[in-house]
Amino acid sequence: MVVAFFCASCTTTPVTHAPDEDLGLLWVKHAAEYEALTRQVYQAAGLALDGFVADQSWSALPAQEDAEGLRPAIIFDVDETVVSNVDFQLTFERPFRDWKLNAWSSAGASAPVPGFAEFAAAARAAGVELFFVTNRPCEVLEDGNDPCPQEQTTIDDVIEAGIDTDAEHVMLAYERDDWTKEKVTRRQYVAKTHRVIMLFGDDLGDFIPCVRAKPSGPCTEAATAASRKQAVAQAADRWGNGWYVLPNPMHGSWTTVTSAVGARHAGDAARPHRKQRPVGARHAGEIRESPAWRAPTAATRCML
Ligand SMILES: [Mg+2]
Repeated sequence: MVVAFFCASCTTTPVTHAPDEDLGLLWVKHAAEYEALTRQVYQAAGLALDGFVADQSWSALPAQEDAEGLRPAIIFDVDETVVSNVDFQLTFERPFRDWKLNAWSSAGASAPVPGFAEFAAAARAAGVELFFVTNRPCEVLEDGNDPCPQEQTTIDDVIEAGIDTDAEHVMLAYERDDWTKEKVTRRQYVAKTHRVIMLFGDDLGDFIPCVRAKPSGPCTEAATAASRKQAVAQAADRWGNGWYVLPNPMHGSWTTVTSAVGARHAGDAARPHRKQRPVGARHAGEIRESPAWRAPTAATRCML
């Protein structure tokens, strides 16, 4: 049904954005530096793994106390942390909707983030339990009765990234009543039974609560660009020391507090006209001569 929708839509729907103007998308897709960074993050974390496992007094969650003796656990975000969806970002018909990403992901189209599988395997071998906390939401699809078909899609994505997992270890938004898009309640849920030794994510919300301009419970106050930077500074000793950020210049909660990009990432507004010369044109010589570059067309979108 979903596949049928995509095949029908891609023959008739025009491209709704200009991916060759977006340097963030192009960087993730084409820059070797992107892969160097993700490998750097996971390799650095791997060097610290044994120490965090051995230190019973350590928790990556500032509020977690008395965790000695609990089994160690690591919490990963999924999108742009475990799997890369850059090909989706390059081609999906704007505006963004969660069901569009789920449809794309259910076709097995995402790619592993380099470095993740090796690190996760080492962590599991060291006795660490791996949890995946994603803001992909549980939503009933039009043609089904499953209250959370997105859970199996996410499990499949993690497995395709190289690590076996199951529904117990994959935690989606709205899977339980208090599991909003604010991830702190899911981190607290894991912390009831585990000593959380590391966090991995591409968004500030993967580490720090209440960083969204539109807060979800239990947060009540809107974050601002200034409050987010202040929160990062207050946690200065955590970065690279239990907290590990993967690069994502394509989207995230940062866009909700930044008026320059808020409109086109809000999901309900057309991309504004850009007055500057398109980045694609300025970089055409480097990028379009690359054999890896394929401008998204109706035909390539049909391959989804
Ligand atoms: Mg993410």
